[in-house]
Amino acid sequence: MTPDEFRAHGHRLIDLIADYRETLAERPVMAPTEPGAVRALFPSEPPRDPEPFDQVIDDLQSLVMPSLSHWQHPRFFGYFPANSLLSGVLGDLASTGLGVLGLSWQSSPALTELEDVVTDWMRKMLGLSAAWSGVIQDTASTSTLVALICARERATGFALARGGLQAEPSPLTVYVSAQSHSSVDKAALLAGWGRDTVRLVPCNGVHAMRPDALEAMIAEDRRAGLRPAAIVATTGTTATTAIDPVAGLADVAVRHGVWLHVDAAMAGSAMVLPEMRHLWDGIEGADSIVVNAHKWLGVPFDCSLYYVREPEHLMRVMSTNPSFLQSGADGQVRNLRDWGIPLGRRFRALKLWFLIREQGIEGLAARLRRDLANAAWLAGEVAAAPGWTVVAPVPLQTVCVRHEPAGLAGDALDAHTRAWAERVNRSGAAYLTPATIDGRWMVRVSVGAEPTERADVAAVWAAMRAAAEGGAEAVNA
Ligand SMILES: *Cc1c(COP(=O)(O)O)cnc(C)c1O
Repeated sequence: MTPDEFRAHGHRLIDLIADYRETLAERPVMAPTEPGAVRALFPSEPPRDPEPFDQVIDDLQSLVMPSLSHWQHPRFFGYFPANSLLSGVLGDLASTGLGVLGLSWQSSPALTELEDVVTDWMRKMLGLSAAWSGVIQDTASTSTLVALICARERATGFALARGGLQAEPSPLTVYVSAQSHSSVDKAALLAGWGRDTVRLVPCNGVHAMRPDALEAMIAEDRRAGLRPAAIVATTGTTATTAIDPVAGLADVAVRHGVWLHVDAAMAGSAMVLPEMRHLWDGIEGADSIVVNAHKWLGVPFDCSLYYVREPEHLMRVMSTNPSFLQSGADGQVRNLRDWGIPLGRRFRALKLWFLIREQGIEGLAARLRRDLANAAWLAGEVAAAPGWTVVAPVPLQTVCVRHEPAGLAGDALDAHTRAWAERVNRSGAAYLTPATIDGRWMVRVSVGAEPTERADVAAVWAAMRAAAEGGAEAVNA
């Protein structure tokens, strides 16, 4: 493809994306696709000869797009908001279009230095002190893995330079809550902990980790000769956006010399609002934090902000220095390959930079406040409706609900819950995600897609009532 052909196809593709966003509200939110149906539309053999590129874009429209579930839809209330604001989309396009790679500062100086600039802007926007240094990772899963590897290396006095975990005299332990994201468990296992050394700290009645229980577990493990090395707290858990008390957990961490990692992947965006920062009170006592700019904030996936207080430790754990990557500038610059796992680095800073400049702090804050107000409104409506319950506190934008008709309990209630959520999803009117809490099914309504306004929240509430109270047909009416 020549640059001139790229110009033509690129214009067509940009038009297609703009049209898609404009007409999104008319599409069913959840793809009505059966398993295997997409695959069956494609030839099993790759093309032998070049094909006209217009045909490829046609096929994108006719074969691919009908089987998408639409995360940017105004009635997307599933999982979590994964907003992809159009300024950020252009940033991603610029990144791939420029086609540069950050292997070292020297391999593309602006890539590294703009990442410095935007991670520091975001630090200030989140209300974090100057003690924090940031880097962009792909996902929170990676950020948490990096954090736990750093915790392991701090606890062992840098064992990876010697015999590694295998040569340690006694096992290390890690403390998480039953409400931690599955990526935390995975990171602990991948970082060398085994199932037997991952401790589940009990939660209180609103699903937040209990510092007193943590303290007791750590003390007992120490008496038993084990070595507590890491605690992972969550600000905004996945099921219910529960808030672990960071200040209390940080006290325990400091007292025992244990690494505290705060997973604020989803809720971290809310810290752009000064009035929400009480949710992670004590954050300055943590050792590392992850905030996914690719969720509620609006940067197109992937863009996970990872902040540490001791970058020297991170670099010592992660650094590699083969001769072909060395340069005369190394003493004066950051080499971001030493701040995480991959060597190669996309120019992710561009999409964050585009987004922040296009929105301004005020633009971002206004949207986050709108979503918080919409969630609070929905929680009020649900709480006031006969037969309906809000099953967990609503500190953020996720409302967890159950419809509890008289006479239904236990497994029958679970079946009812899953059935009405499925009816809403299949109708295409909205997308909701059921989940379990305290062993029972409930339905999460995660407010915060960029185009979602109060009318959309009212519409999903009407669809929920129709599906739960009116039975199978009502929701389509
Ligand atoms: C979304 C989420 C994750 C996982 O994020 P990825 O970037 O997809 O790895 C982890 N923890 C919490 C609390 C989340 O909300």
